[in-house]
Amino acid sequence: MTQTTETIFSKIIRKEIPANIVYEDDLALAFKDVNPQAPVHILVIPKKPIVNLATAEPEDAALLGHLLLVVKQVAEIAGLENGYRVVMNTGADGGQTVYHLHIHILGGRSMSWPPG
Ligand code: 5GP
Repeated sequence: MTQTTETIFSKIIRKEIPANIVYEDDLALAFKDVNPQAPVHILVIPKKPIVNLATAEPEDAALLGHLLLVVKQVAEIAGLENGYRVVMNTGADGGQTVYHLHIHILGGRSMSWPPG
């Protein structure tokens, strides 16, 4: 999938459906994952509906960098001083289910490697 389409995350950005929002600025939104896989599981998304990393363009470079700095800020807000995992599931083999680019922040427990 490469085309930008409306997803559930577009509705969360427009506040049409509720989400537990932990951070917001002009370019990004962070909210708790509805099906947490760790004691802390937060999604950071761009407001721009990029499908995934595989479809990002050079013009998105500053936005992608911004999202990583939002991850850092949100991890601090969430108290993850012991560390955390950052995941971007990309495409079918990456296990992506929502086709609006998002960064998972997982923390609050020790993570294993390799992931499944
Ligand atoms: P993916 O599998 O695409 O990497 O991650 C999508 C994530 O979005 C999943 O972890 C899933 O639990 C989460 N998710 C899907 N729908 C909703 C929703 O309506 N609200 C919230 N907060 N999270 C959602």
